[in-house]
Amino acid sequence: MRIINLNPTAGIGATAWFVELEGHRLLMDAGTHPKLEGRESLPRYDLIKNEELDAIAISHCHHDHVGSLPVALRYFSGAHVLMTELSYFLVERVLHNSVNVMKRQRDELGIREYPLYSHDEVDDIVPLFQGFRYQRQVDWAAFPKARAGFRSPTLEFHDAGHALGSAGILIRGQKQTLFFTGDVCFHDQTILKSAQFQGVTADVLIMETTRGNRALPPGFSRQGEIARLTEALQRVLQRKGSVLIPTFALGRTQEILALLALLLGEGKLKPQPIYIGGLGRVFTEIYDLESHRTHRQHPHLQLHEALNLVVLEQGQAEKMKLSGGRLFVITAGMMSENTAAHDLALRMIGDEQQAIFFVGYADPDTPGGHLKAAQRGQKFLFSRSGGEVTRLCEIQDFDLTAHANRDELLEFVGQVQPRAVLLGHGEDDSRNWFEEQIRARYPKMKVIQPKPGESVEV
Ligand SMILES: [Zn+2]
Ligand SMILES: [Zn+2]
Repeated sequence: MRIINLNPTAGIGATAWFVELEGHRLLMDAGTHPKLEGRESLPRYDLIKNEELDAIAISHCHHDHVGSLPVALRYFSGAHVLMTELSYFLVERVLHNSVNVMKRQRDELGIREYPLYSHDEVDDIVPLFQGFRYQRQVDWAAFPKARAGFRSPTLEFHDAGHALGSAGILIRGQKQTLFFTGDVCFHDQTILKSAQFQGVTADVLIMETTRGNRALPPGFSRQGEIARLTEALQRVLQRKGSVLIPTFALGRTQEILALLALLLGEGKLKPQPIYIGGLGRVFTEIYDLESHRTHRQHPHLQLHEALNLVVLEQGQAEKMKLSGGRLFVITAGMMSENTAAHDLALRMIGDEQQAIFFVGYADPDTPGGHLKAAQRGQKFLFSRSGGEVTRLCEIQDFDLTAHANRDELLEFVGQVQPRAVLLGHGEDDSRNWFEEQIRARYPKMKVIQPKPGESVEV
């Protein structure tokens, strides 16, 4: 088996793995790098441009896994794109939105290479998309090979419990198997149930390592974090302050909305509108519409019925009164510039009545990361356009991750029993932690950290 890590940098970056198995070639994921701009954010497709690709498989619809799919298809025009049926409902919206974001960045930040693809191009590739139920075995060799009588390898999507439609991918050849975790969550979230990876074994494992650099504090529980968040929300609203929860549009937004719906239902919060972003609303509708197909909790909870959701229009964030105690669950997890979350935060930072609650990762080099690191009363550089500000507002951090904790992943390695583990989707210290632990615990396994662009034989 030959595997190439196409991520342009170490770290989480742009996920894209090329796999050659018994003469068949598959690309798994086609992401963009969240911190790099322009063509730099693309995977190293140039390294495989001469390969005859049979198919592309997508683990889930976050940008770091699917954001460069139209670019990948320029190299491999006609390759079928396989994904879960739930991702099939999301993927077009994600790609069209990304065209809009890139156009905005071209105009506002002067990034001339943007957009990297157009709306028309997205429309043109849609007929190549195929959606499948979880656990179904699918042939993926190119059709001409099947016609010539070759037995096709298969793949199956296994529910990864990370965001709607997310999957680990199990590939079976005649002699060998490979499992790619994608992004995975081994605990129940408020809506999505945990990953369904029971019984998965494989010869080779490609694993995410997001939380390898993070030990759980003693006594930590998700329930405890939710109780702490509930109490904090009540306290800020009591003092007539507003709360901003910056989130990603797909997954985290719906998990937070579900939590708020439950709190409202239990009478722990007073009925009030919840302000969300336009893209957040689109994905929330799809969560509601596809609830019957989803492996989830509260199957009858429809977020649009349970909540008074109001879309925050562009420009509104600058004018709105904040002193009445409002709840904002706004897209842009890292508070990038030119987003409503950024503009709203800018108004709240210097006001001690207001609160900003982080519920996920904010990269230290982003406005969200700068804010998270600032002490109360400290003057700090928030962003290029926002400039220097003094933090007076309340800042809290709640660990409601949609990624597996490191000990759970380590257990999972034991279950899969691969002869080789390839580590990806994590910072250096995260991958190193896993390498050390796997070597100590499972000494017979080969542990590999493929460098950006590196090809490995396993
Ligand atoms: Zn993800
Ligand atoms: Zn990811």
